[in-house]
Amino acid sequence: MTQYTNGLTQLVSGGRFKNGNGSKLHNLKEEEYFGDNHIASGIETPLKPDAFVLDDQSKMEIIEHHFEQIMETLGLDLTDDSLRGTPHRVAKMFVKEIFYGLHPNNKPTISVFENKFRYGQILVEKNIRLNSFCEHHFLPITGKAHIGYISTGTVIGLSKINRLVDYYSHRPQVQERLTVQIAAELKQVLKTEDVAVLIEATHMCVSCRGIRDESSSTLTTEYSGAFNQDKIRQEFLRYVDHNI
Ligand SMILES: [Zn+2]
Repeated sequence: MTQYTNGLTQLVSGGRFKNGNGSKLHNLKEEEYFGDNHIASGIETPLKPDAFVLDDQSKMEIIEHHFEQIMETLGLDLTDDSLRGTPHRVAKMFVKEIFYGLHPNNKPTISVFENKFRYGQILVEKNIRLNSFCEHHFLPITGKAHIGYISTGTVIGLSKINRLVDYYSHRPQVQERLTVQIAAELKQVLKTEDVAVLIEATHMCVSCRGIRDESSSTLTTEYSGAFNQDKIRQEFLRYVDHNI
């Protein structure tokens, strides 16, 4: 066993990776799992089976304790007025705000309507604000999502698309998975395969550390149904002003 494998085994036995993907982790090299390669492990966010046994309050108390330890370890003086409340603030922010989308109870209820207008063309909602968080570094991913669909009889309230994007964004994420999760949800809700999702985002883990490239952005797309046809796809891209 390599040193890495030993380390990973300890993590598994410590209960931190006890999920359905546990066995897969052993096949990855250290740099693949812990590096910057941003591997997306599947459409589902990898969660432990007991992910929601603890209530929010208990989670916040545990996170507060551990974040305090992190700050102490970094050498920060937690008796300082400015720092004293930080562990509590971070814990609350993790559970109630930036990672609220982990909990299925927080999923927005989506109202759909019958397409009475018989509108059969592409509907595009573009420039949807997107704030997410890289699951490899816990740093912000910021950008925009552009959504297109062609109704087969069901339409969705427009703001609900924003809410879905917001919900799936507020988890530790990789952009590829986020794109696919939003598309899968829209296909299910709208009862159609004719869905397109395009996300353009910048990753703070690329701009502020590592390579420190502030100018690059990442584009991900998920096309299904009619959007696999070149003509329809080009029409969508024209509307969102991307020439790809
Ligand atoms: Zn990252």
